[in-house]
Amino acid sequence: MTKESARKDTGWNLDNSYARLPDFFYASLTPTPVRSPKLIILNESLATELGLNVQELRSEDGVEVFAGNRIPEGASPLAQAYAGHQFGHFTMLGDGRALLIGEQITPQGERVDIQLKGSGRTPFSRGGDGRAALGPMLREYIISEAMHALGIATTRSLAVVATGEPVIRETDLPGAILTRVASSHLRVGTFQYAANWGTVEQLKALADYAIHRHFPAAEAEENRYLSLLRQVIMRQAALISKWQLVGFIHGVMNTDNMAISGETIDYGPCAFMDTYDPATVFSSIDVQGRYAYGNQPYIGGWNLARFAEALLPLLHEDQDQAVQLAQDEISKYLKLYHKNWLAGMRAKLGISNEEKEDEELIADLLTMMQKYQADYTSTFRAFTLGKPEDTALFGTPEFAPWHERWQARLDRQQVAMDVSQQLMRSSNPAVIPRNHLVEEALEAAASRGDYSVMERLLDVLSKPFAHSPEQEEYCAPPPQSDRPYVTYCGT
Ligand code: AMP
Ligand code: MG
Repeated sequence: MTKESARKDTGWNLDNSYARLPDFFYASLTPTPVRSPKLIILNESLATELGLNVQELRSEDGVEVFAGNRIPEGASPLAQAYAGHQFGHFTMLGDGRALLIGEQITPQGERVDIQLKGSGRTPFSRGGDGRAALGPMLREYIISEAMHALGIATTRSLAVVATGEPVIRETDLPGAILTRVASSHLRVGTFQYAANWGTVEQLKALADYAIHRHFPAAEAEENRYLSLLRQVIMRQAALISKWQLVGFIHGVMNTDNMAISGETIDYGPCAFMDTYDPATVFSSIDVQGRYAYGNQPYIGGWNLARFAEALLPLLHEDQDQAVQLAQDEISKYLKLYHKNWLAGMRAKLGISNEEKEDEELIADLLTMMQKYQADYTSTFRAFTLGKPEDTALFGTPEFAPWHERWQARLDRQQVAMDVSQQLMRSSNPAVIPRNHLVEEALEAAASRGDYSVMERLLDVLSKPFAHSPEQEEYCAPPPQSDRPYVTYCGT
């Protein structure tokens, strides 16, 4: 393939700061062209935010870029090298089926990675084909955009193209490429890679790069690498608390799937919890429940400890002191996480000040929800709409006394009832990308070529806090026959 430039007015404005790191960190290569690309979905509002011209993106030339058949001007595609602990086992990884095309500089001056996922084999593909199937790429599109609308930091999805080529899995499936947009694709695993196989200079180059890109204020700090660690911890504590508050289960929290930026990344076997149960796992490969809903905050801490380990040579020249500094930071993580979570839970119950007993009030609610298999999202929605009688808890012996305590708590805070209601409305989503809804949309799209179900779902998911009558049909929990739901890694 020749390196051609896309039509100038598409708006691509690419830089490649990552390519200026030592070449130890990546392999330069171009995407493998595909036979007959067809645009399946384009995120027009995101495209506009990025300074891209929607009409041009939809043109044949525009689509060729999303397919990897044409390289936009200014791009220098590369596969990033990284390592990671996968289910606790450390291994060399890297972009095996993705390429970083470049960094788009937006009209607001922001820098975001543009990555093609499913763009062909790379030196890091190991046994894989470097390709992706349409269903899982649309799944990532739907769930990542839903997460964004829920106010949760995430990579975004700009477009999905069908390649016109089959991918061979258990059966032949239609192939596709997702264009993913991220603050960066720097992972905990990128640092592990540098720490294990690089020199201290290379590790330092990576850390300086991450600081410059994500935490520029740390450049003025006395120990900038300690500040890097501290801020990554803060962002993960914020992120994972938000996952817990909406019942999102990532499913594969390996260290290569944890972004330094604090964005949710890599939507593989992720899913939203229906009935409240901390032991909930959807992923077919997570037999031990390592990444179960209730474990996510602890796994977050475990991954951050791996990040701290990788940074040790930069934290202090004396190793013992470096370890001490790292431990001091890591030990703050769970408290920070819990503080965020508690604040979010108070908001879900319409509570806007702090009382010591709040934790117990919340814990008692969750215990009840687990005992009576209450749907997590529906319970908070019913409370928000002032309809506790619609919950599975209503009428149980524990409910009336609990409800009385909650109401008394709301009365004590001396905040007008409508303020409290508004807080609940903006904290409790009416709709989440429930598994059965996502499956229905993917079934229509990937099997029948009918994209209308997905488009309607995306529209509803874009306003999760609207609490509007049109959303009603998307709010119901799945029928009992749909359970237990199992997800598969998105390959
Ligand atoms: P994931 O489970 O999606 O985070 O992927 C783990 C690793 O496997 C990453 O290094 C991916 O690039 C790689 N990988 C996943 N699927 C494929 C594939 N079909 N071909 C090549 N590499 C893959
Ligand atoms: Mg991954």
